[in-house]
Amino acid sequence: MRVIAIDGPAGAGKSTIARALATRLKLQYLDTGAMYRAVTCAALQRNISVEDRELVAELARELILEVQRDNVLIDGVDVTAAIRTPEITAAVSAVAANSGVRAEMRARQRAWAVARGGGVIEGRDIGSVVFPDAELKLYLTASPRTRAQRRVAEFGGDVDEIEQAIAARDHFDSNRADSPLTTADGSIVVDTTGLGIDEVLAKIEALL
Ligand code: C5P
Repeated sequence: MRVIAIDGPAGAGKSTIARALATRLKLQYLDTGAMYRAVTCAALQRNISVEDRELVAELARELILEVQRDNVLIDGVDVTAAIRTPEITAAVSAVAANSGVRAEMRARQRAWAVARGGGVIEGRDIGSVVFPDAELKLYLTASPRTRAQRRVAEFGGDVDEIEQAIAARDHFDSNRADSPLTTADGSIVVDTTGLGIDEVLAKIEALL
């Protein structure tokens, strides 16, 4: 099984780089953030509070979730756009801190990779927890301002507000008890500040 793990904070360029790398290496691509977003979306649709840990964990175990390269489906319904709203982004860290949800998502991520002989998998805990033996473990990062500017270029909004929201989410993701965002797993840090996609890909291909 050939797994390339790409972790890092919001807006570091993980999705763009992971997709391009998957194409170049002829591997499949998995966005694990989309899985936590989909559980959050399903909870809100069912009026389940994201603070209700038991109910949200049960929901995660029961959910029919399909994360494809370009689309995300919950129970067969396309939620690709719905999982990217500011409402979901604000609520997702609470769901991702739920150990019951994480256990279920980890199991699904491992099964996904086994079924495909590996893949390029992006998230927060892929190299540290889900696939500690991945062929290459990358931690992509960039300055907070750069990350905010990239989000604004993609989704619009006010750069100062987005920078604050990203900082708050990163702080929460880095300080939770279960599988926090961290570089302390022997991963290679790649700072993408000021680098274009091709420059980042060249660095990664040199590492491979
Ligand atoms: O990557 P994205 O920003 O879409 O991820 C949304 C949220 O999902 C993150 O802020 C984090 O709370 C959670 N997440 C996680 N573990 C992963 C991927 C994402 O906790 N492997």
